[in-house]
Amino acid sequence: MNPSTSLRAGPEDSLAQIASEVSVCTKCALHHSRKLAVPGEGPASAEIMLIGEGPGYHENEQGRPFVGAAGSFLDELLGQAGLKRGEVWIGNIVKCRPPGNRDPMPEETSTCDQYLERQIAAIDPRMIITLGRHSMGKFMPGAKISQVHGQMRRVGDRFVIAMFHPAAALHQAALKPAIMADFARVPGLLETARRELARSRSAARPPAPETPREEPKQMDLF
Ligand code: URA
Ligand code: SF4
Repeated sequence: MNPSTSLRAGPEDSLAQIASEVSVCTKCALHHSRKLAVPGEGPASAEIMLIGEGPGYHENEQGRPFVGAAGSFLDELLGQAGLKRGEVWIGNIVKCRPPGNRDPMPEETSTCDQYLERQIAAIDPRMIITLGRHSMGKFMPGAKISQVHGQMRRVGDRFVIAMFHPAAALHQAALKPAIMADFARVPGLLETARRELARSRSAARPPAPETPREEPKQMDLF
């Protein structure tokens, strides 16, 4: 077979493939208690990925992320940032509901991470917004959410902003103004992210076709 016929899958195909694997996954104990796995949803071309913790009751029933009370609040927060749900990608650290909405265990998070990593690679977003401590911990290990929420950090070839979890903000009145203010800053931060990434991605491009190709250099953090 001609190797050129085995073209690399596009991002939509990759996301669909991941979702179909997730729907029947039995790699960690959370599959025992799930009704429907929640792979995540949104356009493959999204500039922004939002990553929560794990499905709750309603998500487990419907197989879709953030469809309960926290989801309605998230829609409101996205509206504050001038964004519609349909233009961002929304998913979770674990794809199956932890029983009784307990926190995911470290081995569940680490097992499920292979799917999230593939989703991030397929979408290649400019910005990742983490919702809650578990999701923050993947990108900013050791950070305290009370100290870093709303701040944008470069992590590899994209930017990450840690936000409080919308469900936490619904239950703790003191967090609500903070998460609303943090989301209101997203449009300005996205502009900064676009500008910085355009600069570094063009700097990493090889200068001319004749010169030997150098591997692009990536900064870890700035
Ligand atoms: N909370 C989460 O972290 N994720 C969901 O999908 C819903 C609620
Ligand atoms: Fe598989 Fe993730 Fe569900 Fe565990 S939580 S069964 S790793 S999809």
